[in-house]
Parts: sequence; C-alpha cells; structure tokens
Amino acid sequence: MTRIDTPPCLPVANRLESFWLTERDTELQYARTSQEIPHDADVVIVGSGLSGAMMSYHLHKDAEAAGRGLRVVMLEADEVCGSATARNGGHCKPVTFIGYRAEASKRGPEVANHLLTFEEAALGQYAAIVEAEKIECDMHVTRACDVFYREDDAESARSDWEARRAAFPADVQQGDVRIYDDAAEFEQLTGVQGGVFGASYPAGHLWPYKLATSLIRISMSHGMNLQSRTPATELSRAPDGRWIVATPRGDILAKSVVVTTNAYTSSFLPEFKPLIIPVRGTACSITPAPSHLPGSVPGPIKYTYGFRHGPGEVDYMIPRQGRGLVPGQGDRSIILGGAKGCFLHDIDQWYDNINDDVEMPGARAYFEGFMDKYFVGWNGNARGNVDHVWSGVLGYSSDLLPYVGEHPDRPGVFICAGFTGHGMPRIPGCTRALSSLARAFLDTTETIPKHSRAAFDAALPKPYLLSRERLESKENRIKDAMGQGAATKPDEATMLARAMEAKL
Ligand SMILES: Cc1cc2nc3c(=O)[nH]c(=O)nc-3n(C[C@H](O)[C@H](O)[C@H](O)COP(=O)(O)OP(=O)(O)OC[C@H]3O[C@@H](n4cnc5c(N)ncnc54)[C@H](O)[C@@H]3O)c2cc1C
Repeated sequence: MTRIDTPPCLPVANRLESFWLTERDTELQYARTSQEIPHDADVVIVGSGLSGAMMSYHLHKDAEAAGRGLRVVMLEADEVCGSATARNGGHCKPVTFIGYRAEASKRGPEVANHLLTFEEAALGQYAAIVEAEKIECDMHVTRACDVFYREDDAESARSDWEARRAAFPADVQQGDVRIYDDAAEFEQLTGVQGGVFGASYPAGHLWPYKLATSLIRISMSHGMNLQSRTPATELSRAPDGRWIVATPRGDILAKSVVVTTNAYTSSFLPEFKPLIIPVRGTACSITPAPSHLPGSVPGPIKYTYGFRHGPGEVDYMIPRQGRGLVPGQGDRSIILGGAKGCFLHDIDQWYDNINDDVEMPGARAYFEGFMDKYFVGWNGNARGNVDHVWSGVLGYSSDLLPYVGEHPDRPGVFICAGFTGHGMPRIPGCTRALSSLARAFLDTTETIPKHSRAAFDAALPKPYLLSRERLESKENRIKDAMGQGAATKPDEATMLARAMEAKL
C-alpha cells in the first residue's frame, strides 16, 4: 500500500528564510517522536501549520476534559510548521464590512453578517489560549487602519459599512468600526499620507510560528507523536473501516484523519486539485527608521494597516511592539506584505506556483520604496530599512472560502484548509468547531450524532462548510478576484470575489 514516489505538490527544498524563522524551535524542526512511525492511531493529523497545531491542541484538551486517552500522530512533509504559518504577515485582522453587500445579495444578510462576526471573534479566541497557556508569541491587540487610495473603492467600502450598520447595528457597534471621511484627520491618526478615506477597528498581530509550535509542544506533552519529513501520500480504506494513511516510511491505520495541508492538499487528496490552488505571495521585515523609534517624532507605529490601492491590490503591515511577556522591549520589526502590483500581471509567477525558494519579481524594490512613500517623516536608509524578503505559498480555494468539515465521501476524514491568504482570523473558530465534530465521531461507533453535526453547522458560516456541491463545483474565481480573469466588466460575483481577495 505504501507509495514510494513523492507527489509533486509538496514544499520545495531550500525555501527562503522568513523573519519568523530567525527564531526557530530547533528541537522541533525535524523532530520524530519515535524512530519508526506508529502503525496504529486514533487520529492522524496531516500538516503542522497553525490549523494542524490548533486541531491537535483542541483534540487533546477535549480528551483530557473527558478523561479519555487519545493516540494522535501528526505528520509533516517537511520541517515542522515551515510553510504558510512561518511565512505570513502575522496579521490577525477581521474583515468587518468590506464585501458585505455582495455577500448579502448572494447569500442573504444573516450569512453575510455571520462571515464577519465569525472573524471578529478570533482575537478573543487567540487571547484566551495565549493567556491560558502562557504562550510567548508577542500577541498584541491594537486597531487595524484601512487606508483607501481610490475614490470608487472608498465609496464601495462606505456603502458596505452603511448597509451592514443599517441591518445589524448592534454587531457593528460591538465590532467597534470607526469611519474617517476627513483625510487630514486620518493622516494625523495613522501617520500615512495620501489616502482618501479610512476605517479602523480592533485587530491584532502575533508571531504565528511561535504560537503554532507552542501548541504542538503542548500536544506532545499530552502524548502526541510528531513525525517531520514524512509526507502523507495516499488515503485508502481498510477492510475494518479504518483509514490507511500511506507515507514513504510505512502506513498508519487510524479511525479518523484530519487534513490541514492548506496549499498542498492535493498531494494527499487528489480530488482537491481543482479546489485548492497554491498561490505564491510575499512579505518582508523592516527595521524601524530613527524617525519611527521611541522618543522620536513621529515615533513608533501603533496600528496595523491595510493599504488599499484598488480591489485585489492590497498591502498589509504590522508593527511589532517588542518581545516576550513584557511588551515594549526589544525587536520592533515592521512586517509588510503584498506587493501584488509587481507580479499579478504575470500569472505563472503566482498562480499554481509553489516555489517559495525564490523572491517574487520586483517585490524587494517595491518594499524598499514603501515606507518612504507612505509614512510621513520616514528617514530610513537607501534600502528602505528592508531586512528579510521572502515568499510563501497560500492555499487559495476556488470559491475563495475555506473548506471545513467532514469529507462527504470519506466518513471520519476532516478537512480544514483553503484559507485563501486569510487564515489568521478564521483558523481559531474553524478548528474549535471541527475538533468538536471530530471528537463526536471518535466517541461513536455509528455516524456522528445529529446534535453534534447541527452544532458544527451552526458554529461555522454556512459558506465554509465542505458540502458535496462545493466539492464538485467547477467554479474558479481566483484569477477574477486578482483582477486577472477573463471577465472584462466586473459582474457582482467578480466584485464579491475581489472583495474577498482584498481582505488582508
Ligand atoms: C506571504 C504570506 C503572507 C500571509 N499573510 C497573512 C496575514 O497577514 N494574515 C492572515 O490571516 N493570513 C496570512 N497568510 C495566510 C496564512 O499564513 C495561512 O492562512 C495560514 O498560515 C494557514 O495555516 P495552515 O496551517 O492551514 O497552513 P500551513 O501553515 O501551510 O500548514 C500546512 C502544513 O501541511 C504540511 N503538508 C502539506 N501537505 C502535506 C502532506 N501531504 N503530508 C504531510 N504534511 C503536509 C505543509 O508542509 C505545512 O507545514 C499569509 C500567507 C503567506 C504565504
């Protein structure tokens, strides 16, 4: 049963080093809990990014609370947590209104609102875990400032906000969104020049790699067996109904399988090839210029940012606020991502591209010019104080929403993948709900009880659910969302897709 050949859609060798990997957990990096892989388990988790880490954490915590043992094996194709979670912007930014009208007209106002409240809950979910487990991941809660540079884009966002506020005033008030029509006032608040309109709302940032690896360590302290450099290559059914997870090092028999492989999902489940496309993106780290250090004017940057140059073309930025449990000390690197204007026109550079061993064309020069162009008073060096530049592979789903749930054709196989570049505000809620569903499956010898399934369906925004219709859909809106599709006149669906893409 064991396949020897390695499927192509897996992390490449010699990937670029991101800022987050400068403090690697070297013990965990290539860890193998046992020399041989276990051949029997209750659950196999495939993937060790933030989704896999959070799934393992919840599964172990729930088992502990119920006084039950749980034999979990986590497989990682390459180094532990070395993919998107180690290469992202660290920005946990809920989208509070953008795209609301398009979603409401397609799916109804309640569903459109649920998509937004679901993301708004993420900050509290991160904070609860970070506090409970005392995880040092430099989590910081602040406000996101969206700076709009185009009048039509600003007008559309303003209408989205007004429509949501009229339909769900309590949620909008709870979400604490503030709108700024006065460009001068917004420039004073943000220190960013040139915007025509702005909005701010609660958001946060953290060191995603440190959070994920800390959660993996907690799961290992509960007995999880971690196997790095061990790709899961094939899934089949054993005669007794359990699942056989094939790897180049042997097979594992398991009652349940949790698939958190994001961009690389088709390497294990080929039916996801048309559904989750690897999309290459880029980010960098920047040392603050003297003008933006404590004690200077304008001084340290306080907020996180979305620079909205137009639909589908957004840069995002987080200013780290120091290290460790005592905030304000040490490193204050600025993480900046996006630069899509440099490479979107060249589709092969980003679409279905897993080569995060090379920089995105033009991105470095773009990042080097960025701070000086946008931040009032910036006095950095000739290279814009840019340190690391890296690329990473995002898992874009063909309808731009994550796939979360039990596989319609494979009972006991649970998927949490396809975060479309916007995983941070979605992964805590998705993994919390999915781990409860998986727990319900593990607890029964029959099918998952109706009440457990109903609780899962109610917890997640409906469009996230992994339905048969989505599994069989031929729709692919990714290129349209990036402004590179065949559509010449954006219809409503394209606008919706672009609004989704513009979330970061
Ligand atoms: C440049 C960049 C910037 C980003 N910025 C942000 C941001 O600021 N905010 C935000 O919300 N999101 C951002 N994202 C997206 C975010 O990083 C992801 O949504 C999130 O990290 C996904 O986590 P994950 O665990 O699902 O996937 P991953 O972290 O990619 O983890 C999947 C893991 O599965 C492993 N794997 C894959 N196939 C197999 C297999 N067959 N067998 C075993 N293991 C396998 C992979 O090696 C990987 O370790 C960004 C992404 C990139 C690349």
